[in-house]
Amino acid sequence: MAAAMLEKTTNEDGQEHPARGLLIVMTGASGVGKGTLRERWLKDQDVFYSVSRTTRQARAGERPGTDYHFVTEAEFLTELEGGGFLEHAEFAGNRYGTPRGPIEAALERGQDVILEIEVLGAVQVRQQAPDAVLIFIMPPSLSELRRRLEGRATETGEQIERRLTRAREEILEAHNFDYVVMNDDLDRAVLDMHAIQRAERLRSARLSAGRLGGIVGH
Ligand code: 5GP
Repeated sequence: MAAAMLEKTTNEDGQEHPARGLLIVMTGASGVGKGTLRERWLKDQDVFYSVSRTTRQARAGERPGTDYHFVTEAEFLTELEGGGFLEHAEFAGNRYGTPRGPIEAALERGQDVILEIEVLGAVQVRQQAPDAVLIFIMPPSLSELRRRLEGRATETGEQIERRLTRAREEILEAHNFDYVVMNDDLDRAVLDMHAIQRAERLRSARLSAGRLGGIVGH
Protein backbone atom coordinates (compact mmCIF):
# COMPACT_ATOMS: atom_id res chain seq x y z
CA MET A 1 0.00 0.00 0.00
CA ALA A 2 2.85 2.40 0.68
CA ALA A 3 3.60 2.19 -3.03
CA ALA A 4 0.41 4.15 -3.61
CA MET A 5 2.17 7.14 -2.08
CA LEU A 6 4.78 7.03 -4.79
CA GLU A 7 2.38 7.34 -7.70
CA LYS A 8 3.30 10.31 -9.82
CA THR A 9 1.47 12.43 -12.35
CA THR A 10 2.98 14.73 -14.94
CA ASN A 11 2.23 18.44 -15.30
CA GLU A 12 1.73 20.09 -18.66
CA ASP A 13 5.31 21.35 -18.32
CA GLY A 14 6.46 17.75 -18.11
CA GLN A 15 7.48 17.93 -14.42
CA GLU A 16 6.53 14.99 -12.24
CA HIS A 17 4.71 15.59 -8.98
CA PRO A 18 2.94 13.27 -6.54
CA ALA A 19 -0.77 12.65 -7.13
CA ARG A 20 -2.94 14.55 -4.64
CA GLY A 21 -3.59 12.55 -1.48
CA LEU A 22 -7.00 11.24 -0.44
CA LEU A 23 -8.89 12.73 2.48
CA ILE A 24 -10.24 9.66 4.29
CA VAL A 25 -12.62 9.99 7.22
CA MET A 26 -13.22 7.11 9.62
CA THR A 27 -16.38 7.62 11.58
CA GLY A 28 -18.66 5.57 13.81
CA ALA A 29 -19.63 5.09 17.42
CA SER A 30 -17.32 5.57 20.38
CA GLY A 31 -15.92 2.19 21.40
CA VAL A 32 -16.35 0.58 17.98
CA GLY A 33 -12.57 0.15 17.68
CA LYS A 34 -11.73 2.89 15.17
CA GLY A 35 -8.34 3.47 16.80
CA THR A 36 -7.22 -0.16 16.78
CA LEU A 37 -8.42 -0.63 13.22
CA ARG A 38 -6.63 2.56 12.13
CA GLU A 39 -3.34 1.51 13.70
CA ARG A 40 -3.42 -1.88 11.97
CA TRP A 41 -4.51 -0.44 8.63
CA LEU A 42 -1.96 2.37 8.55
CA LYS A 43 1.00 0.34 9.80
CA ASP A 44 3.85 0.85 7.27
CA GLN A 45 1.95 3.54 5.37
CA ASP A 46 3.25 7.06 4.92
CA VAL A 47 0.01 8.91 5.65
CA PHE A 48 -0.85 12.01 7.65
CA TYR A 49 -3.00 11.26 10.70
CA SER A 50 -4.78 14.39 11.86
CA VAL A 51 -4.45 14.81 15.64
CA SER A 52 -7.60 16.46 16.98
CA ARG A 53 -7.98 19.13 19.63
CA THR A 54 -10.22 18.20 22.56
CA THR A 55 -11.35 19.76 25.81
CA ARG A 56 -11.71 16.27 27.34
CA GLN A 57 -9.33 15.24 30.14
CA ALA A 58 -6.54 12.92 29.01
CA ARG A 59 -7.09 9.26 29.92
CA ALA A 60 -4.32 7.30 31.59
CA GLY A 61 -1.78 6.37 28.93
CA GLU A 62 -2.88 8.96 26.35
CA ARG A 63 0.00 10.92 24.86
CA PRO A 64 -0.54 14.68 24.33
CA GLY A 65 0.26 15.65 20.75
CA THR A 66 -0.02 12.04 19.54
CA ASP A 67 -3.50 10.93 20.62
CA TYR A 68 -4.96 14.42 21.03
CA HIS A 69 -3.93 17.99 21.61
CA PHE A 70 -5.57 18.58 24.98
CA VAL A 71 -6.76 22.18 25.28
CA THR A 72 -8.89 24.33 27.57
CA GLU A 73 -12.38 25.48 26.63
CA ALA A 74 -11.02 29.03 26.10
CA GLU A 75 -8.22 27.80 23.80
CA PHE A 76 -10.71 25.75 21.81
CA LEU A 77 -13.10 28.68 21.37
CA THR A 78 -10.30 31.02 20.29
CA GLU A 79 -9.25 28.57 17.56
CA LEU A 80 -12.87 28.03 16.53
CA GLU A 81 -13.52 31.78 16.20
CA GLY A 82 -10.35 32.16 14.15
CA GLY A 83 -11.67 29.63 11.61
CA GLY A 84 -9.00 27.13 12.61
CA PHE A 85 -11.16 23.99 12.44
CA LEU A 86 -12.11 22.02 9.34
CA GLU A 87 -14.92 20.55 11.46
CA HIS A 88 -15.82 20.41 15.13
CA ALA A 89 -18.46 18.85 17.37
CA GLU A 90 -19.51 18.42 20.95
CA PHE A 91 -19.56 14.83 22.12
CA ALA A 92 -20.63 13.55 25.56
CA GLY A 93 -19.97 16.94 27.14
CA ASN A 94 -16.59 17.66 25.53
CA ARG A 95 -15.51 19.52 22.40
CA TYR A 96 -13.49 18.00 19.58
CA GLY A 97 -12.10 19.66 16.46
CA THR A 98 -9.87 18.94 13.45
CA PRO A 99 -7.18 21.62 12.89
CA ARG A 100 -7.54 22.81 9.31
CA GLY A 101 -3.98 24.04 8.65
CA PRO A 102 -1.85 20.91 8.15
CA ILE A 103 -4.40 18.98 6.11
CA GLU A 104 -4.25 20.84 2.80
CA ALA A 105 -0.44 20.84 2.85
CA ALA A 106 -0.35 17.06 3.32
CA LEU A 107 -2.85 16.45 0.50
CA GLU A 108 -0.78 18.66 -1.81
CA ARG A 109 2.35 16.66 -0.93
CA GLY A 110 0.46 13.57 -2.10
CA GLN A 111 -0.04 12.12 1.37
CA ASP A 112 -3.37 10.54 2.26
CA VAL A 113 -4.90 12.30 5.26
CA ILE A 114 -6.81 10.26 7.83
CA LEU A 115 -9.39 11.71 10.22
CA GLU A 116 -10.97 9.66 13.00
CA ILE A 117 -14.03 11.58 14.13
CA GLU A 118 -17.68 11.23 15.15
CA VAL A 119 -20.59 11.41 12.75
CA LEU A 120 -21.60 15.09 12.95
CA GLY A 121 -18.03 16.12 12.16
CA ALA A 122 -17.88 13.69 9.24
CA VAL A 123 -20.97 15.34 7.73
CA GLN A 124 -19.24 18.74 7.99
CA VAL A 125 -16.17 17.39 6.19
CA ARG A 126 -18.39 16.15 3.36
CA GLN A 127 -19.82 19.66 2.97
CA GLN A 128 -16.37 21.27 2.88
CA ALA A 129 -14.56 18.62 0.85
CA PRO A 130 -17.00 16.78 -1.45
CA ASP A 131 -14.29 14.40 -2.70
CA ALA A 132 -13.49 13.15 0.82
CA VAL A 133 -13.95 9.40 1.36
CA LEU A 134 -16.25 8.70 4.31
CA ILE A 135 -16.11 5.29 5.95
CA PHE A 136 -18.53 4.26 8.68
CA ILE A 137 -17.16 1.67 11.10
CA MET A 138 -20.03 -0.52 12.31
CA PRO A 139 -20.13 -2.50 15.57
CA PRO A 140 -21.56 -6.04 15.36
CA SER A 141 -24.32 -4.96 17.81
CA LEU A 142 -25.08 -2.39 20.49
CA SER A 143 -24.66 -5.01 23.20
CA GLU A 144 -21.14 -5.74 21.90
CA LEU A 145 -20.42 -1.99 21.92
CA ARG A 146 -21.58 -1.84 25.56
CA ARG A 147 -19.30 -4.76 26.39
CA ARG A 148 -16.31 -2.98 24.78
CA LEU A 149 -17.01 0.35 26.48
CA GLU A 150 -17.45 -1.33 29.88
CA GLY A 151 -14.37 -3.46 29.27
CA ARG A 152 -12.04 -0.54 28.60
CA ALA A 153 -13.25 1.08 31.86
CA THR A 154 -12.26 4.63 30.90
CA GLU A 155 -15.71 6.19 31.46
CA THR A 156 -18.19 6.25 34.33
CA GLY A 157 -21.47 4.35 34.00
CA GLU A 158 -23.30 7.57 33.18
CA GLN A 159 -20.78 8.49 30.47
CA ILE A 160 -21.11 5.02 28.95
CA GLU A 161 -24.90 5.43 28.78
CA ARG A 162 -24.46 8.81 27.03
CA ARG A 163 -22.08 7.23 24.51
CA LEU A 164 -24.46 4.34 23.86
CA THR A 165 -27.40 6.68 23.30
CA ARG A 166 -25.28 8.59 20.80
CA ALA A 167 -24.12 5.33 19.19
CA ARG A 168 -27.71 4.33 18.46
CA GLU A 169 -28.28 7.66 16.66
CA GLU A 170 -24.99 7.38 14.78
CA ILE A 171 -25.68 3.84 13.50
CA LEU A 172 -28.95 5.05 12.02
CA GLU A 173 -26.91 7.57 9.96
CA ALA A 174 -24.62 4.93 8.43
CA HIS A 175 -26.32 5.03 5.03
CA ASN A 176 -25.12 8.62 4.54
CA PHE A 177 -21.50 7.50 4.18
CA ASP A 178 -19.61 6.08 1.19
CA TYR A 179 -18.64 2.76 2.78
CA VAL A 180 -19.58 0.68 5.81
CA VAL A 181 -16.95 -1.59 7.35
CA MET A 182 -18.15 -4.09 9.94
CA ASN A 183 -15.64 -4.35 12.76
CA ASP A 184 -16.46 -7.84 14.02
CA ASP A 185 -13.30 -9.46 12.66
CA LEU A 186 -10.29 -7.12 12.84
CA ASP A 187 -8.23 -8.88 10.12
CA ARG A 188 -11.08 -8.70 7.64
CA ALA A 189 -11.86 -5.08 8.55
CA VAL A 190 -8.19 -4.14 7.90
CA LEU A 191 -8.39 -5.76 4.46
CA ASP A 192 -11.59 -3.85 3.76
CA MET A 193 -9.87 -0.53 4.61
CA HIS A 194 -7.01 -1.32 2.22
CA ALA A 195 -9.49 -2.27 -0.51
CA ILE A 196 -11.38 1.00 -0.16
CA GLN A 197 -8.18 3.07 -0.22
CA ARG A 198 -6.93 1.26 -3.30
CA ALA A 199 -10.24 1.53 -5.17
CA GLU A 200 -10.55 5.22 -4.38
CA ARG A 201 -7.10 5.87 -5.83
CA LEU A 202 -8.25 4.22 -9.06
CA ARG A 203 -11.41 6.30 -9.53
CA SER A 204 -11.45 7.91 -12.96
CA ALA A 205 -12.51 11.22 -11.42
CA ARG A 206 -9.12 11.42 -9.69
CA LEU A 207 -7.16 11.08 -12.93
CA SER A 208 -5.57 14.45 -13.64
CA ALA A 209 -5.59 16.08 -17.07
CA GLY A 210 -1.78 16.12 -16.95
CA ARG A 211 -1.66 12.34 -16.51
CA LEU A 212 -4.05 11.75 -19.44
CA GLY A 213 -1.98 14.10 -21.60
CA GLY A 214 1.12 12.11 -20.70
CA ILE A 215 -0.50 8.82 -21.70
CA VAL A 216 -1.89 9.90 -25.07
CA GLY A 217 1.25 11.88 -25.84
CA HIS A 218 3.46 8.74 -25.90
P1 5GP B 1 -13.03 9.87 22.76
O1 5GP B 1 -13.43 10.79 23.86
O2 5GP B 1 -13.54 8.47 22.98
O3 5GP B 1 -11.57 9.93 22.42
O4 5GP B 1 -13.78 10.39 21.43
C1 5GP B 1 -15.17 10.52 21.41
C2 5GP B 1 -15.64 10.60 19.97
O5 5GP B 1 -15.15 11.81 19.37
C3 5GP B 1 -15.10 9.45 19.10
O6 5GP B 1 -16.15 9.00 18.25
C4 5GP B 1 -13.99 10.12 18.32
O7 5GP B 1 -13.77 9.48 17.07
C5 5GP B 1 -14.56 11.50 18.13
N1 5GP B 1 -13.56 12.53 17.77
C6 5GP B 1 -12.23 12.55 18.05
N2 5GP B 1 -11.65 13.63 17.51
C7 5GP B 1 -12.63 14.32 16.88
C8 5GP B 1 -12.65 15.53 16.11
O8 5GP B 1 -11.66 16.22 15.88
N3 5GP B 1 -13.86 15.91 15.61
C9 5GP B 1 -15.00 15.19 15.80
N4 5GP B 1 -16.11 15.65 15.25
N5 5GP B 1 -15.01 14.05 16.51
C10 5GP B 1 -13.84 13.62 17.05
